[in-house]
Amino acid sequence: MVRSVRDIDIEGKRVFIRCDFNVPLDDFLNITDDRRIKSAIPTIKYCLDHNCAVILASHLGRPGGNYDEKLSMKIVQKRLTRLLVPDVELSHDVLGSDTMEKAKNLKNGEVLLLENLRFEKGETKNDPEFAKKLADLGEIYINDAFGVCHRAHASVEAITNFFDEDHSAAGFLLLKEINFSRNLLKNPSRPFIAVVGGSKVSGKLQALRNLLPRVDKLLIGGGMAFTFLKAQGIDIGNSLVEEDLVEEADLVMKRARELGVKLYLPVDVVAAQTCSQDSTMKFVTTQEIPKGWMGLDIGPATTRLFREALNDAQTILWNGPMGVFEIPKFSRGSTQMSHTIAEAHATTVVGGGDTADVVARSGDADDMAFISTGGGASLELIEGKELPGVKPLYNKDED
Ligand code: AMP
Repeated sequence: MVRSVRDIDIEGKRVFIRCDFNVPLDDFLNITDDRRIKSAIPTIKYCLDHNCAVILASHLGRPGGNYDEKLSMKIVQKRLTRLLVPDVELSHDVLGSDTMEKAKNLKNGEVLLLENLRFEKGETKNDPEFAKKLADLGEIYINDAFGVCHRAHASVEAITNFFDEDHSAAGFLLLKEINFSRNLLKNPSRPFIAVVGGSKVSGKLQALRNLLPRVDKLLIGGGMAFTFLKAQGIDIGNSLVEEDLVEEADLVMKRARELGVKLYLPVDVVAAQTCSQDSTMKFVTTQEIPKGWMGLDIGPATTRLFREALNDAQTILWNGPMGVFEIPKFSRGSTQMSHTIAEAHATTVVGGGDTADVVARSGDADDMAFISTGGGASLELIEGKELPGVKPLYNKDED
């Protein structure tokens, strides 16, 4: 079992919480989706209710180890201050004199937010010295940053070497993410249907392999479907394909047949000659994609077919858009899929940043049972991998 913040004594202590405040920003540096900040609040409030002095740390974007004004945590500080009752103070460096001074003066019930961890090169290098200095800021270490748990970074992995079992644990968001994925894969209500999409087979091959023995049906859409269609001998025109994985796709389909898993592929697509909003588009069956055209979304017949297949689902896992949803012309298949899943009388779990984005744009976020806050991390959980940020938080004498 992963240790929860509830399992350890934090009363009146200095708590260092690794959060995932890596929120999307628009060109004007507005936060476009603050779910990650909101999701961190329960753990922060729990620590404040236990009279802790709270130090928060996160990365934002990819500054590559250098200071970048645009990726300052200032914007996160403002949003956090609106969401929390106490003011959140921001230090103007990660481990410099300002942080040391402010950390020293931090009283119980107060919150200090460090500057962007990735302004320091040591963070992504999992540097033990950098991790030690971070660790020295707190008596307790809490990881609530699910979105980065698949990365062995200093504030996620190396830092855990400086805290024993009584002084380190997972926050509520991290626990929720892990438990949801674990229960989903171990004990799903059946029929359990996985809907997988996105650009490439290569990025999701391991997830497909791990899902196959667990699901009753597998629906494949998005760009990755074309490698499967090609393996069936279908002429896919200029659609996205990974030639080197055609054989592997064939093996996945064979394995599905052996396991009795019903595997569904698109029967029609929205095709165009170029991937742009102003290109002419056509609805064609997958058998009739014209030479030089490419499939950029699932077509209306596939939407109906997939809806039919999802009709009896008790559990649905969705990871990956059905088409190039960023371009309105090719977004309909993904939007319709989002509506279908949201309306299903099933436990519905959405993983992956793009898929969460589709669900938010479609106005369906409130109707999903669970939307994971981590893209890569949620995929690695589906792949059955142990996450480097989570492993150190298991109690040693248990599983
Ligand atoms: P992934 O990161 O693998 O989940 O893929 C997400 C990306 O797949 C999105 O940016 C979509 O635009 C892209 N995508 C979905 N369907 C297609 C398609 N038919 N052709 C090309 N790209 C696609």
